[in-house]
Formats: sequence, C-alpha cells, structure tokens
Amino acid sequence: MGRQGAVFLLTLVALVGPATSVGAKAVIRTPEGQVAQPYTGWMARSKMPLPASPLTIDNDMAACGEPSPPACVQTSYGFVHMNQDMEINRFDFYHELAHMVDFEKHITRSLSEGWADLYASCSLNAKRNPGYGDTASDKGHRRKCKRLKNLVR
Ligand SMILES: [Zn+2]
Repeated sequence: MGRQGAVFLLTLVALVGPATSVGAKAVIRTPEGQVAQPYTGWMARSKMPLPASPLTIDNDMAACGEPSPPACVQTSYGFVHMNQDMEINRFDFYHELAHMVDFEKHITRSLSEGWADLYASCSLNAKRNPGYGDTASDKGHRRKCKRLKNLVR
C-alpha cells in the first residue's frame, strides 16, 4: 500500500531505536491517546519484531493521497491510516507495520511492497506469502521468515 513520508528525516533520528522484541507490550493509539483496538491486540499476536517508534492510527484516508489505498503509513510520524469502511484485516495492518520497521532499520532502501507483504505474512505465521506472486514452498517460506526475523530484531 502507499506510504507518505521520509520528509522530516531529522525528526526520525530521535525516533529510531531497536525494534521491540516479539511479545513485548506494544501499543498503537488513537489521535486522542486511547489504546486502539483491535490493532494493539494484533500487535501482541504478531510473530515478528515490531516497530520501536510510538504509533498512532486513524481512518483519515485523505492523508494517504490519491488514489486512496486501503491503508498507508506516514513513516516520519509513525502514523497509520486505515480505511475502516473497508474490511480491515491483520495482513494489511502488519503490512503497514512492515513499512515502519523498514523505515527504522533501512532494510530495503526503497520501502518494498513485496518485502512488506513478506513481513506481514510472517507476522501472521502464515505458511505462504500470499502477496506479490511469491511462489516459495511452505518450508521455503518458513526459512524466509526466520531470516527476516533475524534481520529486523
Ligand atoms: Zn505498502
């Protein structure tokens, strides 16, 4: 999905830190500061290291630009926007978290959509990566997830 950002790079420096370890207490908040559900619960269930930055979520899709994707993340702010009129699913949410992790760790350099889908799939502990035409076997996919986990932790 689309993303905005990489604008305030100097601000970013202060936000970058080690990714939160799997199972750590991570939250994503509404703009009003409330713990946002079901997203915080989904973070707790993720099988992948999570972004270290404070995260906020809303459904302001105008922030994503046109054409409006189902979700996007403004990585400079740690601000996830999800279209709550559409079917919200964990995969799309984890996909946006992938862009945050990628942004924090400078992993793909181009904020790759395929990489974000792989991270999302591994977050779900899925056997295969359903996105972007990945044809790896279940075993091959598990190996990819293990490598990815080591890379982002
Ligand atoms: Zn994306």
